[in-house]
Amino acid sequence: MTTRGGVSAAKLIEERGITLVSLDLDDTLVDSDAVAEVRIRAALAVARQLVPDIDPVRAELALSEGVHANPVVVGRMPAFLATLGIDPKTETGQAIRAEYNRVLIDELEWIEGARDALLRLRERFTLAIVTNGPPEMQWPKVRKFGIESLVDHIVVSGDVGHHKPDPRIFEVLLERAGVSASVAAHVGDSIHSDIAGARAAKLTAIWYPPKKREPDEIGEHEPDAIIDRLDDLLDG
Ligand SMILES: [Mg+2]
Repeated sequence: MTTRGGVSAAKLIEERGITLVSLDLDDTLVDSDAVAEVRIRAALAVARQLVPDIDPVRAELALSEGVHANPVVVGRMPAFLATLGIDPKTETGQAIRAEYNRVLIDELEWIEGARDALLRLRERFTLAIVTNGPPEMQWPKVRKFGIESLVDHIVVSGDVGHHKPDPRIFEVLLERAGVSASVAAHVGDSIHSDIAGARAAKLTAIWYPPKKREPDEIGEHEPDAIIDRLDDLLDG
């Protein structure tokens, strides 16, 4: 058992009779952060082909701005294109983004151990994925890893029109699964999207930051429990 914050997730799950475990996808199960730089570099190569007079100093700055942009608040591609002075709505902007998206699907990997953990979790729980993003980005990730056969429900925010932290995306899941929030938990890496959203929808909110972010990120959205490994949901 590993706990931070003093509450064992497994104990909480047992006490509350949790039967449905929902998980975030990006940076909870698959390592989207790790491929940020290679994606931006590929986008820059396309930008250089399409706009041959890009100043090298500006190109380096755009690379850095893209890699370090907050992916939720700003977005890496918008920051990158803005630094290059390229309108994302133009043909050039769209071609650069297309390359950025293609490389993601090619390069993306599981977070170590995540697939095996899903197999173990599914022996005990109904499993779901609740993920933010457009369908044309999220479904190729789901298919690449065969996630449809590993979980029972998949809710993509772009499909349902509600994005975490909006509680309505979780209400869509509860409706589909036919369970109440009191017996559902959501696990994710983002305090802003996963924890705030799960709490708003009255699910048990479990913070799982595989990259070991510091607890000072919690701020006003206190998770019910914090885990270091997905298996901490099982053994308490
Ligand atoms: Mg995430």
